[in-house]
Amino acid sequence: MIAFAAENNTTLIPRAAGTSLSGQVVGSGIVVDISKYFTTIIEINKKERWVRVQPGVIRDDLNYHLQSLGLMYGPETSTANRAMIGGMLGNNSCGLHSIVWGAARDHVLEVKTLLSDGSEAIFTREDIRQTKQESPLKQKIYSELDTLLTNKHNQQLIKTTFPRC
Ligand SMILES: Cc1cc2nc3c(=O)[nH]c(=O)nc-3n(C[C@H](O)[C@H](O)[C@H](O)COP(=O)(O)OP(=O)(O)OC[C@H]3O[C@@H](n4cnc5c(N)ncnc54)[C@H](O)[C@@H]3O)c2cc1C
Repeated sequence: MIAFAAENNTTLIPRAAGTSLSGQVVGSGIVVDISKYFTTIIEINKKERWVRVQPGVIRDDLNYHLQSLGLMYGPETSTANRAMIGGMLGNNSCGLHSIVWGAARDHVLEVKTLLSDGSEAIFTREDIRQTKQESPLKQKIYSELDTLLTNKHNQQLIKTTFPRC
């Protein structure tokens, strides 16, 4: 699918539950519905309090499975009975209890991805200046991020204009 998109000079638009409010899952690219086959909760580690899921797992379904273990996934959108973890990460979703329970990005340990060149990359908490990344494209993304974030003008803009939490 990625190769097909590249060959045809188009993009892929992943679509989870499609409840985004700003047209995130519509566009001129190919819409990839992840809600049908990527619905598995792969692993639950009760002791370390983490789960590994596919992106099409519905937020409330996940919590239904976690309930008996005394665990829960905090971020709760008004659409939690259909919103999926992949879509929640894409939007950095949160809800009523966000001040206490945080937003989606506060609960991500690691994301396994396929990049636009087809390479697989794992994003986790790591030094973005580390030079040996598993994919040249991931290396490029980190390098460009580093350039953006170390730019003094950009730093000043973030300090003065980004809303305080
Ligand atoms: C009535 C209503 C109330 C809402 N209330 C809230 C609220 O309280 N809080 C809130 O934060 N939002 C809210 N939303 C917005 C939306 O429901 C949430 O952000 C929700 O979490 C999106 O999940 P989804 O599964 O529908 O994602 P989608 O809309 O399908 O996708 C969201 C984004 O993630 C990307 N994406 C999806 N899957 C993947 C993947 N596998 N890989 C890479 N990218 C992917 C998509 O391309 C898109 O950019 C509301 C929407 C409605 C209609």
